Amino acid sequence: ADATASQRALLERRARLLGPTYRAFYRNPIHLVRGSGVWLYDEQGRKFLDAYNNVASVGHCHPRVVEALSGQAATLNTHTRYLSEIILDYAEKLLGTCPPHLGHAMFTCTGSEANDLAIRIAQHSSGGTGVIVTDFAYHGATIATAQLSPAAVGAKGVPAHHRTVAAPDTFRDHGRTAHDFARNVAAAIDSMRAQNIRPAAMLLDSAFSSDGIFFPDAAVMREAADHVKKAGGIVIADEVQSGFGRLGQGMWGFANYGIEPDIVTLGKPIGAGHPMGAVLVRPQLVASFGSNTGYFNTFGGNPVAAAVGIAVLEVIEGEGLIENARMVGAYTADLLSALRSRHGIVADVRHNGLYFGVELTAEGDAAVAAAKTSAVVEAMREDGVLISSCGPRGNVLKIRPPLPFARDNAEQLAETLDRALSQW
Ligand code: PMP
Repeated sequence: ADATASQRALLERRARLLGPTYRAFYRNPIHLVRGSGVWLYDEQGRKFLDAYNNVASVGHCHPRVVEALSGQAATLNTHTRYLSEIILDYAEKLLGTCPPHLGHAMFTCTGSEANDLAIRIAQHSSGGTGVIVTDFAYHGATIATAQLSPAAVGAKGVPAHHRTVAAPDTFRDHGRTAHDFARNVAAAIDSMRAQNIRPAAMLLDSAFSSDGIFFPDAAVMREAADHVKKAGGIVIADEVQSGFGRLGQGMWGFANYGIEPDIVTLGKPIGAGHPMGAVLVRPQLVASFGSNTGYFNTFGGNPVAAAVGIAVLEVIEGEGLIENARMVGAYTADLLSALRSRHGIVADVRHNGLYFGVELTAEGDAAVAAAKTSAVVEAMREDGVLISSCGPRGNVLKIRPPLPFARDNAEQLAETLDRALSQW
C-alpha cells in the first residue's frame, strides 16, 4: 500500500524538523498511536502483532509498570545524590538476579551509556586500552561505543588499538567456527601485544544480535573469555538485547554459556520503554575507578526509574515470562522451522527463547537474499505483523516479540511469514 496523505505530511515534517539521520521503518511507514500487550495500533485503528520490539518486553503499556511510573512521578523524582530507599530496593532486586560476584549496580539512561561506562571501568582497572568486539557488532551511540560498533560505523570506524573478530557463525560453519572464535580472540590479543597495546576488554552481545543472531556452544564462549582473563582483560557481557529473560533459560544470556563476566551491561527491556540502563560490576574492579573519578548520571537511577525497574522485574517473575519465553519460544521455533520444507529460501532457523534469526539465502547471491529479506519484512508489515532484519548481509529475519507472546500469536507469525515467503 502507498503512504496516505497524512503519512506523507508527517514524513515531510519529520524530514524538515529532525533532519536526515532519522529513518522510518518501512516503505509505507506506520503511525502508531497506542500499544497493549503484544499489540500495536495505528492511527486508523489497525492492529499489528508486534514480533519485533524487545523494549516493551513485558508487553506494551503494562498496567503495573504504568502504575509504578505514574505513582512515583506524582510523589518524588530527584536523583541519586539524595538518600532514597527505592533505588536501594531496586539495586538489591536487580543484583539478586545475578551471580554473587556482581556486587555493585550503577545506573544510566541508555545501553550506550552503560557500555561507555563499562569500557571506562575496564580501561581504568586493567590499565589497557584495546577492546575486542565482533565484526558486525552494535554497542552504542556515544563516541567510545560507536567506535566499537562496526555495524554502525563500518570496520574503518574502529580505532587501531581495538580488534574485531568474526562472530561465531553457527550456521555457516558449525563446529569449526565455534573453535575458530576462541582462537580468533587469542589471535586478537596477540596482535594487540605485538603492537604494544594492552588488552582492556572483550565486549560481546550474548545473542550476537547485529552479527546475525547466534547462540554458540558454551565451551567456545568460555574458552574465549578465559583467553581474555588470562591476558588481564575484562569480560563484558552486553545484555542489552539478550537480558531480562528473553532467551528463556534464566534472566541473563551469559549464564547460558556458563561464563562469569566481570561487567554486565543492561538496557532496552530494563525499563519497558522508560529510558534506563545499568552496569553490574565486580566491586573490586570499580573501587579505584570510583575513588579516582566518581560517576554521576543526573537521570540514571532516579526514583521513577527505580520504581519502573522494580515493576518490570516483578512482572517478569509474577507472570512467569521466562518460562513463557522458553515454552512459546520452542513452539514458535518449530512452526518457523517447518517453513524450511515449504520454502527453499529459508536456510536456517536459530533461536533461544523468544529470540529468532531466520536466515534466507538466494543461491549464493547475497544482494538478492538481502532484497528478498527486506521484501519479506515489508510484506509482513502489510499483512499486520512487525519484524525486522539484521546481519552483515542483511539476510536474516530478526524476530523478537514481547515476552507474553502466546501460542496463537506464534501461529499468526508463522502463517504470515508463510504467506510472505510464498511470493517466490
Ligand atoms: N548494545 C546492544 C547490543 C544494542 O542492541 C543496543 C541498542 N540497539 C545498545 C547497546 C545501545 O543501547 P541504547 O540505544 O539504549 O543506547
